[in-house]
This record gives sequence, structure tokens and C-alpha cells, in this order.
Amino acid sequence: MSWPPLREELRGIEPYGAPQLPIDLVPVQLNVNENPYGPSAACIADIAAAASEAAATLNRYPDREFVALRQVLAWYLSSDTPAGIVPEQVWAANGSNEVMLQLLQAFGGPGRTAVSFAPTYSMYPEYARDTHTRWVAGRRADDFALDLDAARDLVKTEQPNVILLPSPNNPTGTALPPDAVAMLCETAGGNDVSGIVVVDEAYGEFRRADVPSALELLPSYRNLVVTRTMSKAFAGAGLRLGYLAAAPEICDAIRIVRLPYHLSAVTQAVALAALRHAPELLGKVDELRRERDALVVWLRDEGYDVADSDANFVLFGRFADRHAVWQGLLDRGVLIRETGPDGWLRVSVGTPEEMAAFRSALTDVNGERA
Ligand SMILES: *Cc1c(COP(=O)(O)O)cnc(C)c1O
Repeated sequence: MSWPPLREELRGIEPYGAPQLPIDLVPVQLNVNENPYGPSAACIADIAAAASEAAATLNRYPDREFVALRQVLAWYLSSDTPAGIVPEQVWAANGSNEVMLQLLQAFGGPGRTAVSFAPTYSMYPEYARDTHTRWVAGRRADDFALDLDAARDLVKTEQPNVILLPSPNNPTGTALPPDAVAMLCETAGGNDVSGIVVVDEAYGEFRRADVPSALELLPSYRNLVVTRTMSKAFAGAGLRLGYLAAAPEICDAIRIVRLPYHLSAVTQAVALAALRHAPELLGKVDELRRERDALVVWLRDEGYDVADSDANFVLFGRFADRHAVWQGLLDRGVLIRETGPDGWLRVSVGTPEEMAAFRSALTDVNGERA
């Protein structure tokens, strides 16, 4: 018997995670799609005051139902859908990763199936593994869009209990058109299994102007779940606050599997304070979108293949040896992500200075390799 006595299927598996390198060694970090702009002094002071107030009652358990936070998240989401969102439709946890794990705990499990379409977020198969849910990955088309006929066929064949669809997709940046979401909700909800469709909008705030949020479809499909996070556009990756909007019955079902008091009093207070500063924290989103679009144009001018992006990162290629390019950039102080289909690399959109450093490092690496 090997030590420690880990579950069979977990033996030899490396924990998930991009390399975390010290910022003084690698000054330009464009590898985990964070918002490069931190909070202002006023915002920091307000967050500190909220944490301090929460500290005064840390001997008590926090509000298990985080009522105040659900109200504010509902208000925030309502700006993205004419029907609005009410607090009973909102659920939150420590990052949208925890939200999605809870969804698999509640709606997946032994004898059940989860489906996604590759290339996609590498955490999804891990939620499935950890909840003993059967995992099935369909393929996206060559341009990373969803092939609707193939997707419908796969859903009909596999009858999944949960479909996980990031929009915009990570690592490709591809957004899903609303008719694709509608088709999947109809197909998944139309069979005996009656699956839920999770549209992961972690990068939703970065989508281009003509792309609606899947939140608009909530009144039409009770099996639709839309997840969001404060980690990306909201400049709150360190906060660990993710959330979803769905039918109230779905939120209620998750309450069965969540750990008691899973959102700490400090997390709730700090998230509420951050939400009060929403205009500031989201204030750089337009600039980041412009920077993204300029990056796509530049990379294409340089002769690279570049996936259209509705997110704050860009997937580009193709490289015979992508690891060598990744390493060459790292040697020049620029950390990007070696992920996605073979031959491609993903770079997050940073400040103008960081993007200039990335462009010059890439040009340099290319010159050396030519
Ligand atoms: C970054 C990311 C998330 C967000 O994870 P958090 O746990 O909220 O930080 C969710 N989905 C995808 C596809 C992501 O890339």
C-alpha cells in the first residue's frame, strides 16, 4: 500500500495551478488573467474599515445565508438583464470555482455525467473527478466556436446532468452566442435526465458590446445557471468571491451541499465594501478591452494566428516549440501561460507598459529563434 493512502485515482496527480513566481524576479506577470490595476487608497481604506468592523464580532458565526451580500450582487447583476435579478436567484461562495464544485456536488455525482467542449477550462474535469461524476469532453470547431449540431448530438447521446460552458471561453476567449445557450438549455432540459446548463461568465464583463450576457435567458430557462466572479474584471482575485444567478430552486439545492458558514464574516464584509466601489474597480475594463483589441491586431500583423477574444486574454500561436517561446519570454521577465491546444500560448492583458514589455520580449525571442 502506498503512502499516504490516497484515493486510487488521485495518486501521482499534480495539484492544479499556474506557476507563482516572485514579482521582483518576474516583473511582468500576464499568466492568470488578473486585472492589473489595484484599488485606490480610498477603496483600500473602506475595505480595511469593513474588515475591522467585522473583526469586532468574530466570536460569532457569520450570516449563513449572506443576505446583505446576495442583495447587492442581485443589484449588480440586474444591470446586465432587462428582467433584473432578485436575491433569491443569487448564490455565492469562495470563488466561482467553489460555486461550480458545489453545482457538481448537488447535480453531479456517481452515475451522473458532466459535459464540456474542449479546449476549455482545465478545472472542469477536476470538479468531475472530485465528485465522482463521469466526464465527457466534446470538441469545439477549428475556430474554437461551438459546432451547434455536434453539440446537440453529444447532449442527446450523453444526456448530461451538468453542462459546463465558459463564455467567454478560457483559454480561447470565444464568447457563446445566445442561440447556442438557448439550444443547449432546450436540448439538456428536454430529455428524461433534465440537465442544468452552467454558463461560466468569469470574463463576462470583458465581452464585446454586441455580445449579450446569458443572464438575459434566465427568464426563459429554469435549467440555466450563470456564474460570475469578482476575480477578473472586478480586480478582486485575492478576495475569493464567486457567485451565480439561477432559479431560486437551484440556489436552495446548493444549500444542501455547502459547508456551514462557508463565507466568512471577513469575506462578506470585504466583498460588500468592494461592491460599493464597483465603478472604480471596474473602471479599467474599457481600457483593458481596447488594449486587448490592439494586442490582437499587433499579433496578427506580426503573422501569428490569434483567436478572437471577448476576454482579458489572448490565445496566439502557432509554435513548433511553444515551451521554448514561453521560457524565452520568462528569461526576459515576462510570465505568460503555457496552456490550451498544443502550439498555442495565452497572454493576459495588462497595463500599456506591461504590454509593451511583452511585445518587445516576444520580438526579441523571435529574432533569436529565427
Ligand atoms: C478565472 C476563472 C474562473 C474564476 O475562478 P475564481 O474561483 O472565481 O477565482 C472561473 N472560470 C474560468 C473559466 C476562469 O478562467
